[in-house]
Amino acid sequence: MKLAEFLPYLQGVETTPKGNVACCPAHDDRHPSLVVKETDDRLLIHCWAGCRTTDVLAAMGLDYPDLFLESRTTKRTRRVPGKRQPEPIPHDDWDWRKTCAELERTIQAKREHHEAILAATHGLNIHQLTPEQFDEVMTYVGQAYSWLDCCERLDDTVCLLQGTLRDEEEQAECSKKRNGMNQ
Ligand SMILES: [Zn+2]
Repeated sequence: MKLAEFLPYLQGVETTPKGNVACCPAHDDRHPSLVVKETDDRLLIHCWAGCRTTDVLAAMGLDYPDLFLESRTTKRTRRVPGKRQPEPIPHDDWDWRKTCAELERTIQAKREHHEAILAATHGLNIHQLTPEQFDEVMTYVGQAYSWLDCCERLDDTVCLLQGTLRDEEEQAECSKKRNGMNQ
C-alpha cells in the first residue's frame, strides 16, 4: 500500500516538516503520536505512546502485509502444511542442529536488542524534538523494524531447516527398523 492510500484510514493527519503524523487508532490519542513514513519498499508506522504495530493495523482494519508497497505474498512462498517435500540436506560433517541452535540464539538476541530500541522511544514527546533529532530517531526506528522483519524471515528458515532435519531423522529411524526386521 502506498502512503496516499494509507493516510485516509487515519484521523487527524498532519503533514509536518517531520513527516506525516496522525492520531493513533489503537489508543486514546489526543496529540497525534502516530508517525507514518514511506521508505523504498514499505511504510513505516510508529506509535510514540507504545502501541504495537499489529494493534495499530488491526484498529485500522489492515494487516501487516499492507505496509509493503508491493504485496509481500507475491514474493513470499506460502507453506502448505503437509505438502512440504523435504529436500535432503547434505550432512557430511556439518552439524546442522548446532547451526540451527546458534541461529536461534542470534535471532533472539537481535530481536531483543531492536525491541528495546523501539521500547526506548515510547513516551518521547515527538513535538519537542528538532527535525534533526526526529530524523535520527526515525532512522533507528526504521532499522529496528527492518531487523525485526528480518528476524521473522530467518525464523521461518530455521523452522524449515529443523523440520527437514526431523523428517530425515524419522526416515533414518524407519529404515533402521525395516533393516532390523529383515534380518
Ligand atoms: Zn498508539
